[in-house]
Amino acid sequence: MSDRTDDRPTIVCLDLEGVLVPEIWIAVAEATGIDALRRTTRDEPDYDVLMRYRLDILAERDLGLGDIQDVIAGLSPLNGAAAFLDELRDRTQVVILSDTFEQFAAPLMAQLGRPTILCHRLVADDAGNITDYRLRQPDPKRSAVRAFHDLRYRVVAAGDSYNDTTMLVEADHGFLFRSPANVQAEFPQFRALETYADLLDCLSEAIAAG
Ligand SMILES: [Mg+2]
Repeated sequence: MSDRTDDRPTIVCLDLEGVLVPEIWIAVAEATGIDALRRTTRDEPDYDVLMRYRLDILAERDLGLGDIQDVIAGLSPLNGAAAFLDELRDRTQVVILSDTFEQFAAPLMAQLGRPTILCHRLVADDAGNITDYRLRQPDPKRSAVRAFHDLRYRVVAAGDSYNDTTMLVEADHGFLFRSPANVQAEFPQFRALETYADLLDCLSEAIAAG
C-alpha cells in the first residue's frame, strides 16, 4: 500500500522499563540488597540463562512472588511518565510491549492508569514460590507490531534497548528514548530522544503523518 492511500489508524507501541518505569530487576536488587540481581541482558545475553540465574537466587534467598511484588509496589513510574502517557493516550491508542512479567508489571500499571500491556508470565506454586516463567512467544515485540499491521494499524514505536530494536525496525516510525550510547551508535536510523516533551512531539508528528 502506498503512503498516499494509507488511511490506517495509528497505534503507539511503547517499551516499559527504561521508558516509563525503572528497570525492575535493578530496583529489586537495590531494595533487597542482593547485588547479584543487577545482572542484565547486557552481562548475560542468553535470556533463558539469565532468568534461571535470577530464579535460583530468589529460591536461595527464600524470596517468593509476594516479596518481589511488595518491592515493586514501592516503586514509582519515572518522573513525568504518567503525565506523558496520559497526554499520549489523549491523542491515540497506546499499547505497552514489554519483556517483563504480568505479575511484576501489575503494581506499576496501576500507577499508570492501567494501559494495555503485552508481556510474559511467571509460574508460581501455591506457596508463592516462583518456579518457572513462560515467554509468550519468540521475538514478541516484533511479532506484536506485525500483528497490528495485519489488523491494518500503522505502528509508531519507542524503546530504549536492544530488545526493542526489532520492534522499531518493524514499525512504520521508531524512536529511541533514553537509550545507551552503544544502542544509539548501532541504530543511527532511529532518532534518539531524552525528554518526555520531545518524545511526545515526535510521536505526535509521526501520528499526524499517517
Ligand atoms: Mg527497556
